[in-house]
Amino acid sequence: MQKQQFIPFCRVELTQAEITAVTECLRSGWLTMGNQVQKFEQQFAEYVGVKYAISVNSCTAALDLALLAHNIGKGDEVLVPSFTFVATANVVIHAGAKPVFVDIDKNTLNIDLEDIVKKITKKTKAIIVVHYAGLPVELTKIKKIAKEHNLIIIEDAAHAVGSKYKGKYVGAHGNTTCFSFYATKTMTTGEGGMLTTNNKKIADFVARNRLHGISRDAWKRYRKDGSWKYDVLYAGFKYNMTDVQASLGIHQLSRLEKFIEQRTKIVGLYKKGFSKNKHIQMLSTPNTVRHSYHLCPILVTGVKRDELIKKLTEMEIGTSVHFIPIHQFSYYKKFYPVKKNDLQVTDSVFKHILSLPLFPTLKQEEINRVINAVNALTLDSK
Ligand SMILES: *Cc1c(COP(=O)(O)O)cnc(C)c1O
Repeated sequence: MQKQQFIPFCRVELTQAEITAVTECLRSGWLTMGNQVQKFEQQFAEYVGVKYAISVNSCTAALDLALLAHNIGKGDEVLVPSFTFVATANVVIHAGAKPVFVDIDKNTLNIDLEDIVKKITKKTKAIIVVHYAGLPVELTKIKKIAKEHNLIIIEDAAHAVGSKYKGKYVGAHGNTTCFSFYATKTMTTGEGGMLTTNNKKIADFVARNRLHGISRDAWKRYRKDGSWKYDVLYAGFKYNMTDVQASLGIHQLSRLEKFIEQRTKIVGLYKKGFSKNKHIQMLSTPNTVRHSYHLCPILVTGVKRDELIKKLTEMEIGTSVHFIPIHQFSYYKKFYPVKKNDLQVTDSVFKHILSLPLFPTLKQEEINRVINAVNALTLDSK
């Protein structure tokens, strides 16, 4: 049999217009933060429907600055799901605070509201919520809990660019929200991130601290009309985005709605393809949200998840696992151990979950190949 072409888990496909935009930026001679960054931020803020959008070099950097802006540090506890990318908890440690792991809801795989309440102590200062796979968390209910206990909400929206909750985009719900434009994310700048807020103080703090703590428009100092004078207000970071990245981001943003449309269609085809397979469970989408379908996770039974991944790889189909729970990593086991059975849903979901190939240019025949392979491998295993 002829070897079949590999279907990757994720594929970035740039248009000629994007390549031209980056080339033009390179030719302009302005490689670092400049007017492309400013334009990207304005367009992103407009798209989301939020007052301020501040670009940085990653979502991790945005989360770092969000915690700092909200004055979270030594002696504070921050609630985070364990079922997320490790950056969500690492940043709490960067800030000098303690991450406290919260379990997830078995239907949405988002942070569990009852477990949030259970884990609040006198030291709890904030909750970082993660919109897993692009499905927004129950923001109204979480806001209510946060208000009762005087907690700050920070949204890790690495998966949720373009997602909506109750008709409004994620990033426009009055919290500090952090987005990722990493290469595998729904829209990309290679590496990059964005922080959104309606709070001017937070916006100013973040804008200054992403660039050494110097005054907001410091980058202008190299222009003809710029000045060599600047002041330093904080011991800030080097977290800024560059014009090269932003020139790509501007184009990706203009394609975002189309990307989500295509992702939604593909997930629909997967759902249909597995509708008769009792060994495959897909997550349902509540009608209060627009899911951006950053990921297409499935829960498998009847066959070991690791075995299924291995066999799919042999059949030239790439998959991934989102996520290895953070509390299972060596560092976290050593320094932030959790009690056995403390995160029962997280532990059990992890054993069964895998993410299928999902990207806008996935072809119908590739989708069929994935569906047929997964069905064959799970239905044969009874
Ligand atoms: C990718 C990801 C991040 C980190 O994003 P970077 O831009 O790479 O820093 C954070 N949280 C979640 C949930 C992610 O998936």
